[in-house]
Amino acid sequence: MIQYHEALELIRSYAIIRSTESVELPLARLRVLAEDTYYDSNIPPFNKSAMDGYACRAEDIGKELSILETIYAGSIPAHRIGVNECSKIMTGAVVPEGADCVFMLEDAKLTNDNKVHCTRLESSNNICYEGEDVKKGDMALKKHTLISSRHIPLLAGAGVISPSVFCRPLVSVFATGSELVEPDHKPLPHQIRNSNAYQMISQLDALGINGDYLGIIRDDKKLTEKKISEAFERSDLLLLTGGVSMGDSDFVPDVLMDLDFKIILNRSAIQPGKPIIFARRGKQYCFGLSGNPVSSFIQFELYVKPFIYSLMGHHYQPSVSEAILSKDLKRNKADRLKFVPALLNQKNEAIPLEFHGSAHIDALSDAECLIEMPVGAFEIKKGETIHVRPL
Ligand code: AMP
Ligand code: MG
Repeated sequence: MIQYHEALELIRSYAIIRSTESVELPLARLRVLAEDTYYDSNIPPFNKSAMDGYACRAEDIGKELSILETIYAGSIPAHRIGVNECSKIMTGAVVPEGADCVFMLEDAKLTNDNKVHCTRLESSNNICYEGEDVKKGDMALKKHTLISSRHIPLLAGAGVISPSVFCRPLVSVFATGSELVEPDHKPLPHQIRNSNAYQMISQLDALGINGDYLGIIRDDKKLTEKKISEAFERSDLLLLTGGVSMGDSDFVPDVLMDLDFKIILNRSAIQPGKPIIFARRGKQYCFGLSGNPVSSFIQFELYVKPFIYSLMGHHYQPSVSEAILSKDLKRNKADRLKFVPALLNQKNEAIPLEFHGSAHIDALSDAECLIEMPVGAFEIKKGETIHVRPL
């Protein structure tokens, strides 16, 4: 059976990066930058006062100074500062020629004849120098950056108001299973509520993608084929759950093959979530995820998310970190990479949550991370260092 990292790289190797488009800057969050971006000017663009105060020559600190003018942010100083002179200056205003220091208003004492002196013997210069943060021509953001709120001010500062980004895929979502009813129905004794579809839609939403929900499909080969065909009339990627393993009503793999899709993956060595279909037809892709909600949640995080980022031109790498295991973990078979939902406390201890198996949606609700139990590890002891993946 193919191991996780190998399977992930295999899936990613099929991702064809989407074309590009321009978006308005406020909408650029969660998009992937399609070009290197450079600053077109220095930041700050001029020597700027960091304080409300008086601009003067540092060597005149403490002396009585004549006030030439008041310089406001956004205005141009009219006077050069000479010996025993100063100008009142506001935060963000241009420091006038001749001045190399701004002393704070709080340290200023005015005299009756419109003079002022600094009550301290020394003052820090309180000037942000031109180009001290950024030089014209410096790179602001690299192509392939996944844009977060932190990056928006950089783009604004570089004058990029409609960044070029990679297009998002159009994604359809449905759930398969004759036992399923929508959450607004009270299930009969033989039925179960469809939680997966909504789970996938919200996982897509976290990536900034508006999933197109196509409903529940009964376990019927013809219907499944019709629905998959319909989905690919409008979408680049289809996510569905259920019907992907070996049962008599697991039609998805056959239907995909009948529709000329090539099945790239039909299982991988993760636990939970071994059965997973990844299929491709040209630039169209389908993930058939496990019916069990915890499995499909984890499969989305492990495979679908990185794949969608790859389509959008970004190489996603989760911030897997180290933590200390709070209690022993044991298992009978160790042929898969196992993920255990867990809490993290302030001492960086990972506390495994009660987890009955892949249908136990409640186990995910408090989970802050997934503990990784590597292939070959039958047991990990309390106090050992482990890897955790944030959720
Ligand atoms: P399957 O992969 O179709 O064999 O389904 C495996 C298990 O997941 C079964 O117990 C299903 O009832 C359950 N299941 C399948 N689809 C969903 C869904 N959309 N929401 C919640 N549970 C599901
Ligand atoms: Mg099913």
